Amino acid sequence: MTENLSPQPATSPTTASAAAAARAAAAGSGTAAAGTRLDPWFGSYADRAHGMRASEIRALFAVANRPEVVSLAGGMPYLKGLPLDAIATSVAELVATRGATALQYGSGQGDESLREQIIEVMRLEGVSAHPDDVVVTTGSQQALDLVTRIFVNPGDVVVAEAPSYVGALGVFRSYQAEVVHSPIDEHGIVPEILEETLTRLEAAGKTVKLLYLIPNFHNPGGVSISLERRPRIVEIAQRHGVLVLEDNPYGLLAFDGETLPALQSYHPDGVVYLGSFSKTFAPGYRVGWAVAPHAVREKLVLASEAAILCPSNASQMAISTYLATCDWQGQVKQFRELYRERRDAMVGALAEHLPSASWTVPAGGFYTWVRLPAGLDAKAMLPRAVTARVAYVPGTAFYADGSGADHMRLSFCYPTPDQIREGVRRLAGVVSSELDL
Ligand code: PMP
Repeated sequence: MTENLSPQPATSPTTASAAAAARAAAAGSGTAAAGTRLDPWFGSYADRAHGMRASEIRALFAVANRPEVVSLAGGMPYLKGLPLDAIATSVAELVATRGATALQYGSGQGDESLREQIIEVMRLEGVSAHPDDVVVTTGSQQALDLVTRIFVNPGDVVVAEAPSYVGALGVFRSYQAEVVHSPIDEHGIVPEILEETLTRLEAAGKTVKLLYLIPNFHNPGGVSISLERRPRIVEIAQRHGVLVLEDNPYGLLAFDGETLPALQSYHPDGVVYLGSFSKTFAPGYRVGWAVAPHAVREKLVLASEAAILCPSNASQMAISTYLATCDWQGQVKQFRELYRERRDAMVGALAEHLPSASWTVPAGGFYTWVRLPAGLDAKAMLPRAVTARVAYVPGTAFYADGSGADHMRLSFCYPTPDQIREGVRRLAGVVSSELDL
């Protein structure tokens, strides 16, 4: 059994305050419900707004962000390694020399020079496209929203991996889609089960609009779709007439530098590909993109113009300057090394402190997916973990139907290796007390 290694006595001020805040946060849902009843506009909301819910764990995360808590929860990239001085100089120069353009409205489809550079970025993953095929978006999150907006009617089905990205599930819910999960194993989504899932949905008369996949260093699963499965999955979707939505923010973050061909490269007319600068550069600029078949691309531009008029010119030009003037590929290589070291710290600490659990060993990206010892519930355990000053995301966040309580997602992108080891030690203490209960 693992000893509870929480290094401070339970009566210490920091622990006591984290504990009190965690209890308050855990109790907060009642207050939210009362607030809903008091909302005089409650009866006026559109149907789609009723499906929008703050996650039950959101209040806890306010506590998890306190400095005394080791957060293995968030997916924030570690930006202190960026050449911030050089970036500051180039942004100042951009505003001084081209400020009247950078601070102006821009094109709905996005800056042409940046779209040309995006083509070069995607070439590294086997996507060959023309700049006209690219729509620049406010992060790939907006691209998820736009694709769903133009394809999904209420009640349409989106097939997603089990588990799947929490932010995409939120988008699908906001358009009143029915999400049906199809399982993954260590080689990504399982083709035979996907085939069965699509066949069953068709037989039940369902309209399946999208197959949403995160092919590389899955969030939260940590696995990638194998080279052998990629063409099979695209073929299955094609045969069933389902558009593939390929969400690929992590593909360039392979620890061994090996990139697998994008699903889009097997069938460009059957895939909408999403990319992002958030993980390879900086999420603060909020720049991502979609590559889509011609007619779909036109609809995406119209939908984006209706939503935001145009993506930020200043952000796009700052990124374009960074790509042109900094060694961005060298920077990505440094990120890979940094995250590999943190992955090693994570899986090493899990092996040392939590041998009764099992976990994926990601070959890139930010996350490992941990299965708890039998009988434990990651969601129920979270307030106690936060009291012990460690946070994670319970598996339930990654399923539309609330299953997954026996899993948790641990992120190794932001905390240092020492913090990761300390966080896993604290987590092991919580798990061992749960097992003793
Ligand atoms: N897709 C996945 C799988 C993600 O993990 C994220 C960010 N966590 C996004 C999309 C959204 O990224 P962004 O909007 O910053 O490009």
